[in-house]
Amino acid sequence: MEHEIYLDNAATTYVSGEVFSAMQPYFLAHYGNASSAHNLGREAEAAVYKARQAVAALINASADEIFFTSGATESNNWFIKGAIERSAVKRVLVSRIEHPSIMETVEYLGRHGVEVEYINVDEGGIISIPDLLSKLSKPTALVSVMTANNEVGTVQYINTIGKICRDKGVLFHTDATQAVDSITLDVKTMNIDGLSMSGHKIYGPKGVGALYIKKGTQVETFMHGGHQERGKRAGTTDVPCIVGFGKAAEITMRDMSINNARIRMLRDYLIREIEGRIPAVKLNGHRTQRIVSNVNFSFQGIEGESVLTLLDLDGICVSTGSACNSGTLDHSYVLDSMGVSDEMINGSVRFSLGRNTTKEDLDFLIEKLVKIVGNLRKISPIGIKGEL
Ligand code: PMP
Repeated sequence: MEHEIYLDNAATTYVSGEVFSAMQPYFLAHYGNASSAHNLGREAEAAVYKARQAVAALINASADEIFFTSGATESNNWFIKGAIERSAVKRVLVSRIEHPSIMETVEYLGRHGVEVEYINVDEGGIISIPDLLSKLSKPTALVSVMTANNEVGTVQYINTIGKICRDKGVLFHTDATQAVDSITLDVKTMNIDGLSMSGHKIYGPKGVGALYIKKGTQVETFMHGGHQERGKRAGTTDVPCIVGFGKAAEITMRDMSINNARIRMLRDYLIREIEGRIPAVKLNGHRTQRIVSNVNFSFQGIEGESVLTLLDLDGICVSTGSACNSGTLDHSYVLDSMGVSDEMINGSVRFSLGRNTTKEDLDFLIEKLVKIVGNLRKISPIGIKGEL
């Protein structure tokens, strides 16, 4: 491949050089078990504590409210199952556009006697506050609404949801996996009781994440068999990955405003170019209330999968809907919940920008995209007529 243009940063990001350098010594010289009492162990434990502080700082939590996990999937499973297990009230509310690691967790709980209700979203993907309030009229243990959606990038009004839940005495969990890289979160002022995040979405390693549990919140232990993570999540501590995650959190905080400004400009440029140069397209998600890195378009009359395949041949990596569903022809329930027609769901493509995206990359993409969409439409049996 002549060159590769990576526009799938919502699926995963590369590991930044600074992160990789920070991790390396913990594979080689400092390989101790963080639970060991000797010097090598204490060194590892100190490095893990430093990472815990960095991850905590990113969301204004305390270090002892951060529990390291294998990623956001585990964090989501842990908080939802663990909070319900400890609650006398067996009822949970989640939005209709949560990641599968929330959706399938509540479906599992639903099969085991827990009442699950889904909060509606509008056409931009913003949850309906009246619907939330009406569903909170029955005793509820927990509300989980993601901070930013992985497919369309829509950002929720977390402050409002947090305040409503706190006033009602209901736990509030948010999956912030796609948000911590570009939104300043404060678990205290936002009244958040549980928050999930992941290393590999913020230029850190894969297989590591964290769950924030507000001090005093009753959440059952997830993994049994050891005293790691204050006895709540057993298993030998993954020191290099945790160190890398901590470094990634530190860099994210340090560079957030400069990265945001640059990526937002590129995002808006891409949106303008696609809307200006390709007819019959629809921007999915909220136009302004969205993370800086997400651009999601439906191209009427063609399959997103075909666009993905043809862009791939030109060295451009994109995704259709959620990357977790890529490779299957699953209909996006996220777009469906937002009222997007089946035809437009089939024609949706996600471009997720990142720290290494350049304007030249986007110009190359746009030229290819104009041609690909035009050619596919010439052979499309559907054509481009009717409502978008
Ligand atoms: N939640 C969201 C919103 C995500 O985008 C992802 C990753 N696709 C996850 C959870 C799962 O994260 P991990 O890969 O760390 O398990």
